[in-house]
Amino acid sequence: MSTGEEIARTIIDACLAMNRTGLNQGTSGNVSCRYDYGMLITPSGIAYQQMTESDIVYISADGIYGQGKIPSSEWRFHHAIYQNRPDLNAVVHNHALYSTILAIMHKGIPAIHYMIAVAGGNTIPCVPYATYGTPELSDHVAAGFRGRNAIIMQHHGMTAAGATLAKALWLAEEVENLAKLYVNLLQTGMEIPLLPDDEIDVVLGKFKNYGERGESQQENSQALPSSV
Ligand SMILES: [Zn+2]
Repeated sequence: MSTGEEIARTIIDACLAMNRTGLNQGTSGNVSCRYDYGMLITPSGIAYQQMTESDIVYISADGIYGQGKIPSSEWRFHHAIYQNRPDLNAVVHNHALYSTILAIMHKGIPAIHYMIAVAGGNTIPCVPYATYGTPELSDHVAAGFRGRNAIIMQHHGMTAAGATLAKALWLAEEVENLAKLYVNLLQTGMEIPLLPDDEIDVVLGKFKNYGERGESQQENSQALPSSV
């Protein structure tokens, strides 16, 4: 098992990756990993480039963190995801451009492309707005994560989660790709054809088999398919 310091490093690396891929806008993103009955999460108000392992904040399962440490103001909904989804061990949140455009328009992403199934179903839902950092927002996020591993958040951004941080980060990138497609499709003004539910079920089955095969071959490898 990785030490807290090793996990803290992977969290910082994920933040830097979000800067490189453009997922992060300003310092709005935050990243966490389940750890020791609680979680490790990015701090509030420190630029990713300056972040060190000791800046990463541990928050217990009861929501308690050490004196002098200030976690991301959005830690509550990370906490809610871990409490409600024992299968998820990492959460990536950001205000990526196209996902946030859809968030402002109160639009989730429908089955425009078979890759929609990467989030676990035939849609990526858009959950209702609540002020950042509030228990109310945590409730909306937790509800959105029932049966899905990624959501759009009204007037806010997107959140993706996974069994590993690499998977959560990969999923966040795929969600933003789908959001970009959907925003562009909406701009055509034309009717947008959607894939039927039974086809999404077929794809979900294929992804599940792929995941199981990949897991046994790679054994916790950070490597992920660039496409599936
Ligand atoms: Zn946010």
